[in-house]
Amino acid sequence: MLSYLHAFHAGNFADVQKHAALYLALKLMKAKASPISCFDTHAGSALYDLSSPQALKTGEARGGVQALWPHRKHLRAADWPGFWSCVEALNPGTTDLRFYPGSPAWMSCLTGPADAMTGFELHPNENSRLATWADQHGLQVRKEDGLRGLLRNLPPRTPRLLGLIDPSYEIRKDYREVGETLVKAWRKCRHGVYLIWYPILPDRPHRELLDIVLASPVQKVLQSELLLHKVSARGMLGSGMLVVNPPWGLQERLDAMLAEAGEDRFLAADHRLAWLVPEQ
Ligand code: SAM
Repeated sequence: MLSYLHAFHAGNFADVQKHAALYLALKLMKAKASPISCFDTHAGSALYDLSSPQALKTGEARGGVQALWPHRKHLRAADWPGFWSCVEALNPGTTDLRFYPGSPAWMSCLTGPADAMTGFELHPNENSRLATWADQHGLQVRKEDGLRGLLRNLPPRTPRLLGLIDPSYEIRKDYREVGETLVKAWRKCRHGVYLIWYPILPDRPHRELLDIVLASPVQKVLQSELLLHKVSARGMLGSGMLVVNPPWGLQERLDAMLAEAGEDRFLAADHRLAWLVPEQ
């Protein structure tokens, strides 16, 4: 089922949370010199025009990145300037926010020539847009199921791994499959940094994903949840991220960014951050 198009949702509150976590994970990993293999299991098209008919139809970016953008120079958390520099690079010579980076573009902003990036995208149009973008940005594009593709490529050739798992959860079984894939991936590469996004819906289908992780040997799992004060247009109560093997310092830095982003004048959400599974 491929009815989901990220262009309708790019830059929303969930993207801010997901991309802040991705930004920090890669930035902190890059403090060491050894190369990183980055895998993006559900890559999307890498670049989103917030003035497109799709983005304007939902207006979701207004409750996300566009709420923060005019205040970006005055935000307190120390990591915002680096975060915004990846966005500003796509909007040169203007203070307007038109183009917003998808996950492959965040990876490209933070990695270097020694690192490797692979993006999986099944949707034919999204895949071809991604492939066009990837030509200039050193991303290997694969038109295959991202969960299977990730497992097939582990362990990576480089000493270090970052895996982003960000499906659209159009089908209920996605929650189970994501949980099972994470556990299998962890068995193949235990030191990998894995970021898993999930929506928080009223009937909490993400519980199945969390239960699989809790019943597994996977440890060092940080859980970030951005809980909206008002239910979103799509009926989401909030947005969640798991970060397995978070680089040192990520916990405090992510909390500083998202607690501030959650203030009422911006995204109007509470940020909760805790270990789902601590190191044992
Ligand atoms: N990660 C992107 C970002 O942060 O900018 C957003 C990805 S969007 C939530 C999910 C994407 O997964 C969609 O573009 C969809 O076409 C794609 N997709 C759906 N099923 C897939 C599958 N089995 N394997 C790979 N991609 C898939």
